[in-house]
Amino acid sequence: MTSLPDAHKSLPRTIAIDGPAASGKTTIGTLLAEELGYLCLDTGIMYRAVTWQALAEGIDPEDEESVTKLAEQIEIDVLPKSVEDGRPFDVLINGLDRTWEIRSPEVNQNVSLISSYPGVREAMTRQQRKIAERGKVVMLGRDIGTVVLPDADLKVYLDASLKVRAQRRYAEEIAHGNCVHLDEVIASLKHRDAIDSTRKVAPLKVAPDAVVINTDNLTIAQVIDKIKTILVQRDP
Ligand code: C5P
Repeated sequence: MTSLPDAHKSLPRTIAIDGPAASGKTTIGTLLAEELGYLCLDTGIMYRAVTWQALAEGIDPEDEESVTKLAEQIEIDVLPKSVEDGRPFDVLINGLDRTWEIRSPEVNQNVSLISSYPGVREAMTRQQRKIAERGKVVMLGRDIGTVVLPDADLKVYLDASLKVRAQRRYAEEIAHGNCVHLDEVIASLKHRDAIDSTRKVAPLKVAPDAVVINTDNLTIAQVIDKIKTILVQRDP
């Protein structure tokens, strides 16, 4: 196991971790942040929150204007977990716990469309940059290293094949008692990948200065160790 530098002296202020759906960002990012004593902000939950709230209010996901207005007003909070039910943290939307609701198939189906709206991205990016100003943050998403924090001190791009990502997501769903089929999971990931990587604003892509890690054949511990090795070896 790689040890971190003494007193975290030369650790980066901001770490960006990007990658496609189910590439391991949340698990890896949460554990890494815990180890460093950093805040972990999973920006996917912000887009999920907007999507869930839009659906709950009966807003048509294709109604860009109404969805954008909602994104500008919504209050999203991420707090330390209050329940030991497998959640990495609590997600509150307008004060109410919606941790699991934002992971529903309906949200999965609509989140990429809603994330493609420039006004929604502007509202979310503004909040994300504000949080990063405090430093000591691991931020997870699709456009963190390219758009939100182009000057992040360390950029990691986690990748994995569609097959492996689908198997991981399928196992998670089954573990939560959800009845899903592997084919559906593959189709849903493909659908999101396609929209996320081809949208006009802030598409999913590797930042030129990011370190790419393919996690297909790596355990969680091995990925964390790789990132820690990069942290130790990088120029402060
Ligand atoms: O990471 P997660 O799968 O929870 O993200 C859900 C969706 O939110 C993605 O499929 C993508 O459409 C959107 N997203 C984004 N930009 C980010 C994070 C997530 O567009 N920085």
